[in-house]
Amino acid sequence: MQTFEYLKAASVDKALSTAGKFIAGGTTLVDLMKLNVEQPTALVDINLLPLDKIDKLPNGGLRIGAMVRNSDLAWHPDVKESYAVLSQAILSGASPQLRNMATTGGNLLQRTRCAYFREPTAGTPGGYGCNKRTPGTGCAALEGYHRMHAILGTSDHCIATHPSDMCVAMAALEAVIGVEGPKGKRTIPIADFHRLPGDTPHIENALEPGELITHVDLPKPIEGARSVYLKLRDRASYEFALASAAVMAKVEGGHIRYVRVAMGGVGTKPWRSHEAEAALADKPADAASFRAAAQAALANAKPRTDNAFKVELAKRCLVRTLKLATA
Ligand SMILES: Cc1cc2nc3c(=O)[nH]c(=O)nc-3n(C[C@H](O)[C@H](O)[C@H](O)COP(=O)(O)OP(=O)(O)OC[C@H]3O[C@@H](n4cnc5c(N)ncnc54)[C@H](O)[C@@H]3O)c2cc1C
Repeated sequence: MQTFEYLKAASVDKALSTAGKFIAGGTTLVDLMKLNVEQPTALVDINLLPLDKIDKLPNGGLRIGAMVRNSDLAWHPDVKESYAVLSQAILSGASPQLRNMATTGGNLLQRTRCAYFREPTAGTPGGYGCNKRTPGTGCAALEGYHRMHAILGTSDHCIATHPSDMCVAMAALEAVIGVEGPKGKRTIPIADFHRLPGDTPHIENALEPGELITHVDLPKPIEGARSVYLKLRDRASYEFALASAAVMAKVEGGHIRYVRVAMGGVGTKPWRSHEAEAALADKPADAASFRAAAQAALANAKPRTDNAFKVELAKRCLVRTLKLATA
């Protein structure tokens, strides 16, 4: 790890006017610094910022401050009651200790767990190629270890999976991210927040330099809808998803009248499946519709040798989640 300056900001204005990388819970940034993936010369600690509240919005939605800890968000009564998918997704991730420290903003910005990306010498001469670490050095995962890697949204330059559970639920909930930066305030729908790798896998999100995430807004809950998050992984806890699904659905008269579908563990970003939603719209809430949706969701999958199993696994995960959400 390289040496760095450490500064603590007591206000949003102070944080924005201080040069350096923001540190929130530090649960992933510090690891990445130890691995030399991140090499900031200064850290701006944002733990004192007044961004740790969860408030109801006048439009019936919910505003989540960027510094709200993952545990506090998951156990908040309004989240458990009206956004169950988000509570379930967060509680399926990491460990209680990590969730007590991890924040909403930090979770949105967590980086891939690709072993080559996190290898200390990746992207350097003699190290593994990693276009995310050092553009133009190749992608060792393409022909190397890629069992955990993405099958949707990949490119010839990067197949790294987006690791977050929380973001998958937020994709299904159509969350909107509030940011503040040198040029002022703006909002970014979660669908536009994370970037596909394309030929610039090192550009992972829509944030401009120096922008701070201040909050995330969730829309008003859909009356009569139920939501479920299901995560499949190599062991029952403390493990990233091989495949996961977040579904919000409303059934009337046996037919699906509203549905949002997002998937995790399979995409290079939290994967909203408009294809699955189209396949389910106004269809009977039955096994045939669920299987058709799963087929549609994975139709464009590009598996490689060792992660081909994810195609069927993700389909079964989605079918099961749809069954639970519409039961
Ligand atoms: C062992 C382990 C297992 C894990 N398992 C899972 C899992 O199963 N599922 C899952 O989803 N996650 C998992 N995680 C990841 C965990 O959710 C993240 O580490 C955590 O959410 C990051 O939040 P943080 O506040 O600690 O971020 P930090 O480490 O403080 O920061 C992460 C990044 O976000 C930036 N940042 C933070 N806040 C802001 C802000 N407000 N505005 C702008 N930039 C900001 C930082 O500069 C940094 O680049 C795991 C982590 C570990 C260490």
